[in-house]
Amino acid sequence: MSTYLFDTVTSEQYDVNHSDFLSPSGNLLDLHHDAIFDINQLKNRPANLWRYKEAFPITNYNAIVSFDEGFTPLLTLDLGGKKVFIKQEQLFTSGSYKDRGATILMSHVNALGIKKVIQDSSGNAGCAIAAYAAKAYIDCDIFLQADTSPGKIAQMKMYGANIIKVNGLREDAAAAALAAAAANYYASHCYNPYFFHGTKTFAYEICEQLNWQAPDAVVLPAGNGTLIIGCYIGFQDLLRAGYISRMPKLIAVQAANCAPLATAFTNGATSPSATINTPTMAEGIAIAAPVRGAQMLHMVRETKGIFITVTEEEIKAAWIQCGKMGFYIEPTSAATIAGLIKYNEAYSDNTVVSLFSGHGLKSTDKVMQLGM
Ligand SMILES: *Cc1c(COP(=O)(O)O)cnc(C)c1O
Repeated sequence: MSTYLFDTVTSEQYDVNHSDFLSPSGNLLDLHHDAIFDINQLKNRPANLWRYKEAFPITNYNAIVSFDEGFTPLLTLDLGGKKVFIKQEQLFTSGSYKDRGATILMSHVNALGIKKVIQDSSGNAGCAIAAYAAKAYIDCDIFLQADTSPGKIAQMKMYGANIIKVNGLREDAAAAALAAAAANYYASHCYNPYFFHGTKTFAYEICEQLNWQAPDAVVLPAGNGTLIIGCYIGFQDLLRAGYISRMPKLIAVQAANCAPLATAFTNGATSPSATINTPTMAEGIAIAAPVRGAQMLHMVRETKGIFITVTEEEIKAAWIQCGKMGFYIEPTSAATIAGLIKYNEAYSDNTVVSLFSGHGLKSTDKVMQLGM
């Protein structure tokens, strides 16, 4: 088997049609897939992420669920006197890069013939899974904390998803989803490894757009780690294939108000530190207990990256600065840019890539609260 699921603790292997979100021993599952694609074939293919189809753990191309997503523009911007590359990940059909994970995961779900999925998300992952479920006529239940942005809930409802509001924190919504996952397919962006085999295309696209050069550093948001883990897998694939010659540093940004991984990194710990979840504008990365936190810490350390925390004031300033440059993004996206600005102040790498992770139209209510 060149494509299989495996237990991250025991290494025991399972067939890809294993539909429980954990291994029989109750551990996280990862997916092994020999991702090989030929870069010479790419130039004749459409400008979307399915151009790398041989690299995906999907064999039934009739089951693909896609909006022809991906290959987002990689713009150069002048930020604080330094040239940086910013990938326009707010431009996906559901308004965030989560569509990268959703297209691969929901194509897998569709190939398995599954007719209903459940999800829990503070917003964008729920929106992405709901959109792709709608496209494939798959039912979708989404468990949400009661204070999720009304705009995101409206978007999921528009896609036809059933919304189940859970009182309490994000962790309580996650617990309710876990209970439901016992009886349903859990299309989780945290647990399900198929999601990361979609977000890995972020790394592929960056390198292709830089003419198969690896950047020195990639500055990424760190909540549940869909991009950190995806980038690690993607850059490793390219390194193994000989398409790039070194691993970029993964620079992970957390809101100072919710920084379990940055704290662990500073303390030399290998798992997330216990954290009180103080409210932050960057709601999309306010994850107090990331289930793959240990993996994220390992990946950042192995690539010689660092964690950066950003205050509410820094997030707000970066957000307004982006608007003044013509970019309408949501505050979670601004947290990454605030981290990028801090990184560039402290280090002088040649090629630094970051992103706008989500569209501002999702959070116009928060823009209005700025009192501009
Ligand atoms: C999901 C998301 C993030 C953070 O990603 P994680 O996978 O939780 O690390 C950042 N910005 C936006 C807009 C998101 O939707």
